[in-house]
Amino acid sequence: MQVVDIIAKTRDKEPLTGEELKFWVDGYTNGEITDYQASAWCMAVLLNGLTDEETTALTLHMANSGDRLDLHHIAPFVVDKHSTGGVGDKTTLVVAPLVAATGLPVGKMSGRGLGFSGGTIDKLESFAGFKVDLSKDEFLAQLKEHNVVVSGQSADLAPADGKFYALRDVTATVPSLPLIASSIMSKKIAAGADAIVLDVKVGKGAFMPTLERAEALAELMVKIGRGVGRKVAAIISDMNQPLGEAVGNALEVKEAIETLHGAGPADFREHCLTVAAKMLELAGKASDLTAAKDTLATLLDDGAAWRKFEAWITAQGGSPAQLADPSLLPTASVIEIVPAPWAGYIAAIDAAEVGKTGVALGGGRAKKGDAIDYSVGIVHHAKVGDPVEVGAPLLTIHANSRDHLASAKERLLAAISWSLEPVKPPAHTLKIIG
Ligand code: URA
Repeated sequence: MQVVDIIAKTRDKEPLTGEELKFWVDGYTNGEITDYQASAWCMAVLLNGLTDEETTALTLHMANSGDRLDLHHIAPFVVDKHSTGGVGDKTTLVVAPLVAATGLPVGKMSGRGLGFSGGTIDKLESFAGFKVDLSKDEFLAQLKEHNVVVSGQSADLAPADGKFYALRDVTATVPSLPLIASSIMSKKIAAGADAIVLDVKVGKGAFMPTLERAEALAELMVKIGRGVGRKVAAIISDMNQPLGEAVGNALEVKEAIETLHGAGPADFREHCLTVAAKMLELAGKASDLTAAKDTLATLLDDGAAWRKFEAWITAQGGSPAQLADPSLLPTASVIEIVPAPWAGYIAAIDAAEVGKTGVALGGGRAKKGDAIDYSVGIVHHAKVGDPVEVGAPLLTIHANSRDHLASAKERLLAAISWSLEPVKPPAHTLKIIG
């Protein structure tokens, strides 16, 4: 089998066999296939797509590229969640300890920032000392002891996705339905959870721009997961504007901490409750979403979810000092409040532009392996539908240079649209599948 022939087949829209896909995944994982060949193939997939059969085979080969965990000797039923990626999406930081606080074990593998969307692992690394590269034994031990573990892409679990993911981030090949589906589901299958809630984002700040594409992605992932015996549901949620108020690694950690203390932005809290409730429902721990949300809201308000977060972050080596005092998390040197240039209602906030501005501030990567700046980002003080007075705080920009601040300010002001008429805040949860 020749590498170049496989690239040519996908370029010419000829389906690959299961054997060819195995050769491809194994070859790229063990370094025999180069980054430039893999980049060409990913671009061919982005442009031409894959059939559902190819995507399913690709997913299973990626899941089998390393160990596959069986968690049943640790816990009879483990749940997981995964987002397709968005801007300001710090949901895992709240949902993982919240669900674990109900007694239901949460074991998950997360990714780093991808394109303009942030990644849970980068956010968690805002804590000094936080260890993301857990071995299989460490993953299992922590799940057993604390009921909650979030690992980065380790050499042991789905290493193929780790390599493809980092490559896609810097080759403009992220927004491909088959590549997203196989990336997410290979990690989920390898990490061994019995039930998985997929948080599928749709809109300007998501990789799926339309509800139709988001539904297609959700349905494909649900099908792949059920095909290997997992319970899977998908929540399709709006990502036209950033989720919550904060965008940027340490800023999002701080917002998650506020939410775990029973406060935080209303849209973000509600989203966390919906995702967590669906996880309880899939695990058979709740008869309906409303009852599950009530139980979970109590755990946010009475401190139980926060205590689980503390135990989790400490178990993975995160700084106890920063946990006790989040103002010790990385902080930018230039922080400026941007006042509203006029009065009116916020009509739209272009989430992709906000995400790209966050990357340009240093919060994301321009090329594979780049270091990122945990301290920078944006905090929105007004969301779509909010009335704003002229001169009232509109945004706060956290930067590490005056030049970065000036260009971020210009981009962010241009990313906000205004209306003189009242604007109805958009619905957040658009559809639940499964
Ligand atoms: N999240 C992932 O894990 N992979 C993708 O490709 C996109 C979002």
